[in-house]
Amino acid sequence: MNTDTEALVFAGSMLAIPVVAVSLMFGLMCCEAAENRRYAAIEKASIKVTAYCPGACCCGEFADGTTASGRPAYAADGCAVDPYAIPYGSHIVFDNTVLEADDTGQAMRDAWRKEGVYHIDIRFGTHEEALAWGVREVSATIYRPAM
Ligand SMILES: [Zn+2]
Repeated sequence: MNTDTEALVFAGSMLAIPVVAVSLMFGLMCCEAAENRRYAAIEKASIKVTAYCPGACCCGEFADGTTASGRPAYAADGCAVDPYAIPYGSHIVFDNTVLEADDTGQAMRDAWRKEGVYHIDIRFGTHEEALAWGVREVSATIYRPAM
């Protein structure tokens, strides 16, 4: 290898770092833009929040480990909604929590259809955690997906 080639290789490796950094930054910006496009509407709302677990105690004897929208019932970030009030795939954000609307239940449908009230049911991994949550009223932001 002559010195000219060595110099070129060295220059090439020095260039590689900023090129990788810039393309990473650009990639992140693209991801953020794509993320933003996923939401058709953003709404702040007061929401009644109860909790459940994926077991038969909360979901009945036919609990099959899959939510109404087809996600795994043991996904740690899901909640039940009335999909007419909060469509599946929406994100509900409050405090340090981000939940995906991926399941439904009679109480959530009744709250919306009879009282016009938002009610979500957070899914915890265990029944004890669900009991410990109890019933709360939170101030949340609902991100509805673009259709
Ligand atoms: Zn349970």
